Amino acid sequence: MSDAGRGGPLPRGHRDRRRDPGCDRCGSSHWPVARWGAEDQVCGKCYQQAKRTRGTCECGHVGVLPGRLSGQPACRTCAGITLNIDCVRCGAEGELYRDGLCWQCTLSDLIDELLTNPATGIMAPELVPFAKALRSMKRANSGLTWIRQRHVTTFLKNLALQPSTTHESIDALPRSRTRDYVRGLLVEHGVLPRRDETKVRYQEWAQDALERLTDEANRAIIDRYIRWHHLRRMNELEAVSHGTFLRSKQTVTVAINFLNWLHDREIPLEDLQQADVDDWVRDGPTTRLIADRFLNWAMGNRIAPSGLKVPRHRRGTSTKLSGADQDAALGQVVDGKSLSARDRAAAILVLVFGQQLEDVVALTWDDITVTDDLVTVKLGGFEIALNDPLDAPWRDRGRRSTPFSRGAPQCGPTDDFSAPRWSVHRMPTHEG
Ligand SMILES: [Zn+2]
Ligand SMILES: [Zn+2]
Ligand SMILES: [Zn+2]
Repeated sequence: MSDAGRGGPLPRGHRDRRRDPGCDRCGSSHWPVARWGAEDQVCGKCYQQAKRTRGTCECGHVGVLPGRLSGQPACRTCAGITLNIDCVRCGAEGELYRDGLCWQCTLSDLIDELLTNPATGIMAPELVPFAKALRSMKRANSGLTWIRQRHVTTFLKNLALQPSTTHESIDALPRSRTRDYVRGLLVEHGVLPRRDETKVRYQEWAQDALERLTDEANRAIIDRYIRWHHLRRMNELEAVSHGTFLRSKQTVTVAINFLNWLHDREIPLEDLQQADVDDWVRDGPTTRLIADRFLNWAMGNRIAPSGLKVPRHRRGTSTKLSGADQDAALGQVVDGKSLSARDRAAAILVLVFGQQLEDVVALTWDDITVTDDLVTVKLGGFEIALNDPLDAPWRDRGRRSTPFSRGAPQCGPTDDFSAPRWSVHRMPTHEG
């Protein structure tokens, strides 16, 4: 420790045997690490706490108040304490991190180092406001913890090496939550123009989804379906809502499953017959009905024989809301404080994903997987992915009981729900 000196910490192994062990501040029997003015002995825990106590002393001094006078925090001068809490760089009072530098200065150094192109020795001009924003993080220690993570460090170094900072250059870096987070900061600080990230995420998702097709000809069909139906519609929107994003994902997923199912039976789409469609619906979960969206498109584009109909299911179907009405209802459900988490969770599945209520209420926690960024619900063998904010009710509910039925609580692994909610996306607390 660098606080040695008069009244500073006692060197380890040199306990003062003339005194009783114990802390004058908290009364614990822990060995004291420092002797301070009137209080005399302070234990390690109280010593750390003292260095982090900030405020205005009775004398008017604003800064770290490590001492105690009449039970009130006091500055070093008033309390007669010697304690090294002056940053050698900026002179600010604060807990020192390393080499006499405060946390803030340490963070600044690291940011400058990472964002400077090592080849040129200079920081790209467009990164300067970004670096400034990062440096001004209120909680420098959280910032350091975030930046020190290997994947974040690597990402920022890569960013510094880009010849220019554009959405395209960032797209070229490996896909990660750090990339999303940093892009968000760059947009927020005016380095990059705002763009519709939901649509971009949909495009990325679609690229991966195409890999799931087992037949080349069918892959070309779905590629066309994505481009000329879903993306074209998204391009017409000012912003793609979560509801649209998830509906499009589900529609395409069902279409892919449908075409793979046909391929397994060696049925080309152009030879599709009504009996095949009936089989598809009869042999699977309710979600298979959603294939009607794809089928209507395929018939309209003369890729499938005309006149086919996805039979309405054995169950009665209620009147469907339009896309806009669904979004409006969804907004109430997601943000509404009036509904319980249980009801919000059910309403999302019914409103956004068109699920039957009786299927929804039969869910158990075995059907639900909660990860850091996604909640997945298995309904009739079909997986529905819930992104933020649609996942919130599930995270709020915890594993107290079965999701919807009022039966006895289910026993099972609890790790899913106790997984930390912390994510790079929400960190660090940024108040620059
Ligand atoms: Zn103590
Ligand atoms: Zn004072
Ligand atoms: Zn400093």
